[in-house]
Amino acid sequence: MSHTVDVAPAPSAAAPAFDLNALREDFPILCREVHGKPLVYFDNAATSQTPRQVIEMFNDYYSRYNANIHRGLHTLADEATAAFEGTRETVRAFLNAEDSRQIIFTRGTTEAINLVANSWGRTNLAPGDEVLISMLEHHSNIVPWQLLARELGFTIKVIPVDVDGALDMTAYRTLLNERTKLVAVNHVSNALGTINPVAEMATLAHEVGANILVDGAQATPHQTVDVQAIDADFYAFSGHKVYGPTGVGVLYGKRELLEVMPPWQGGGEMISTVSFEVDTTFAAIPHKFEAGTPAIAEVIALGRALEWVQGVGLGAIGDWEQTLLSYATQQVRKIDGLRILGTAPHKAGVLSFVVDGAHSQDIGLLIDQLGVAIRTGHHCAQPLLHHFGVDATCRASFAAYNTVEEIDTFVASLKRVINMVR
Ligand code: PLP
Repeated sequence: MSHTVDVAPAPSAAAPAFDLNALREDFPILCREVHGKPLVYFDNAATSQTPRQVIEMFNDYYSRYNANIHRGLHTLADEATAAFEGTRETVRAFLNAEDSRQIIFTRGTTEAINLVANSWGRTNLAPGDEVLISMLEHHSNIVPWQLLARELGFTIKVIPVDVDGALDMTAYRTLLNERTKLVAVNHVSNALGTINPVAEMATLAHEVGANILVDGAQATPHQTVDVQAIDADFYAFSGHKVYGPTGVGVLYGKRELLEVMPPWQGGGEMISTVSFEVDTTFAAIPHKFEAGTPAIAEVIALGRALEWVQGVGLGAIGDWEQTLLSYATQQVRKIDGLRILGTAPHKAGVLSFVVDGAHSQDIGLLIDQLGVAIRTGHHCAQPLLHHFGVDATCRASFAAYNTVEEIDTFVASLKRVINMVR
């Protein structure tokens, strides 16, 4: 077992456009130790950590104005409703949507995609139709379509990737035809980090009359998203990957689509009138799609997270993560028998790799003993991993608060662990 730290000095120019030390102080969790070692948190693609400004929103909400929204006439209900609906406007601005009524709160990306499948999909897809998804998809953008295809009998076609993990755009063009009704594709791959040309894909989809749903779970934490510039018909993301809480996410949809889509869940809040004698009628968008009491505190805290991220600046965050990614890539490439999966020219801060003679699971468990949190497994992208001939990879993924020194610790720890298991 080697204890030598063999890491080249970090590039001297490596400094973000924001005050990294001050930013790290926003994250109480970064001060904790794991197994007696300072935490190095590189599992950001699974869940990012939460700044105290967002954590404090929960305390504030439950201490001062906890109440159910929309229905009450009392002060607390008014305040909670105003904060909740204020977040809808924050999200609208974050995505550059035209109108806050196009913003629907869900439990996360998964629920947003299931909403589109069960509402738009159920009314617009039939035998003979085709839904195009990509080889890069997370299971949450595969399985809802498979479940629906079993019921409705439409066909799912898969856009392939090249050896670097970039989408094969020639194949995409060939797959598109007048039977294509929907293209459902992620903006950034969680397993490889590939950034997909979603605006170009939208243009091509629209040329054949298809809609495009973009899964933005891995894009919103790293880059500015403009749903109008992309011309996305639907766009989904999750709060917990963008410095916000779990249990909340967003579906954006074009107004003309949302307005004619039927509700997918029934209950309180989503109705206009309910009757046993005549047909029940439904609320206008967005409430038609928000049955039941939503995650009020989480939605309000999500608003604070988006303000926090915009305060730092998504451009600066993305640039810093690129610096971290290229330094980490350069360092791990020196490790004997290590193979990086995902080398597309446009990549977010995700480093997926396998190591000859060392099982990913063992690496993940042992490196945790050294205080380093990475993800190992199939990353909910089994078809993609099988395409690359592996069952699992190790994945280090970066966020605004990560440092070059943490990459040095990670690389040194990785070398130790590999020596232990080989
Ligand atoms: N899509 C992508 C690309 C993801 O990375 C994830 C989560 O890892 C999801 C969808 C699902 O997100 P959630 O579990 O928050 O619904």
